[in-house]
Amino acid sequence: MKFERLQYPIKTLPNGDSLNLNAFRLTGSASGPHIHIQSSVHGAEVQGNAVILELMDYLSKNEFRGSITFIPTANPMAINNKSGTFTQGRFNPHSGNNWNRNYQNLEDHTDIFQPKSWIESLKVLEEDKNSIKKKYKEYLKECLNKIKEKLSPTGLSEDIKLNLTLQLLASGADIVLDLHTGPKAARYLYAGEYCEEKVKDLPFPFTIIIPNEFAGAMDEATFMPWVHLSRTLKSLGLENLDPNQFESYTLELGSEEIIDSSLALRDTERILSFFSQRGILRGKFHPTSSFEPQRAGKLSDYKTYYAPIGGLYEFSLKPGELGHKGQTLCKYINFSPLKESEGLQEALPRCSGEIKILENAYVINHNPSAVISEGQTIYQVLEKTWLLN
Ligand SMILES: [Zn+2]
Repeated sequence: MKFERLQYPIKTLPNGDSLNLNAFRLTGSASGPHIHIQSSVHGAEVQGNAVILELMDYLSKNEFRGSITFIPTANPMAINNKSGTFTQGRFNPHSGNNWNRNYQNLEDHTDIFQPKSWIESLKVLEEDKNSIKKKYKEYLKECLNKIKEKLSPTGLSEDIKLNLTLQLLASGADIVLDLHTGPKAARYLYAGEYCEEKVKDLPFPFTIIIPNEFAGAMDEATFMPWVHLSRTLKSLGLENLDPNQFESYTLELGSEEIIDSSLALRDTERILSFFSQRGILRGKFHPTSSFEPQRAGKLSDYKTYYAPIGGLYEFSLKPGELGHKGQTLCKYINFSPLKESEGLQEALPRCSGEIKILENAYVINHNPSAVISEGQTIYQVLEKTWLLN
């Protein structure tokens, strides 16, 4: 096993100091796929760093194929940004942008990204799936470097620079795992429709199937070019050359602001089990116990409940629980109904209320704070799920 530490400058600060991305590359004893794993692009979502530590520990003791680039704390601007006791979460406080929405959509750069012309430029009869895959990775890297050059004359915004650097680092990968967490959340993942059949090999209790579309996130930014390759090969009658092996997932490892080393062992087992399914581990891998049933649902059935009234909320249903139609999701307190003209005893019951769940659904996320304004997210639930295994 070969181990390398790599550093990529990401931002110089007004005092002259610099922020860097620190990457750790492990190369196995035999050839195999390249895997890109990053964590904490959202600064408060830290559990993935504990999982990276466990994965590196396992791979330092067990033989594997291929290579893995680990980028823990992949957003130094976010993780170093504290507000009181809390870590700045999903949004850059300077730009207001969500840190996981600034990746480049290659399709937006039609002057650079032209998969049809690229395929037509190959001597197709001399190609096989593996050579197409290798050359396409090189082509993606070349396109991203040209995009960087195109955007650079007036300077790169800090959001674009961070996301483009990560996207370039992932451009040579066969598998991308972007480690996040929810606010107060179950363990779940996002998988594109293109890999709906494959996701059962990644044993998470909940999977949200997202459309094959670009909406700014890392998983979409990395899988959409491969979806385009499949579509283009099909349109040219060259389906037989489609490598169809790329996979990219966003893994949500519980709740933000938490490092839990015992749960990290289980999270690591889920990922090692997936590696085992993909032939990356050379020896047999056995989890300490079998994994729970895996449920999937569509993004369109992933419903957000917004607070109908501002107040102080108590969350009744916990992440991972099945809520039954009509059951109490949460309760709130709001003192505004108290008026001098009314009797206190008569008005007090109106100072609290309940929100009920409208359909049977699994609770995926709830707000981590009890202090909520009208219109803020209280819960996210997944309706109409099915079993994957
Ligand atoms: Zn996140």
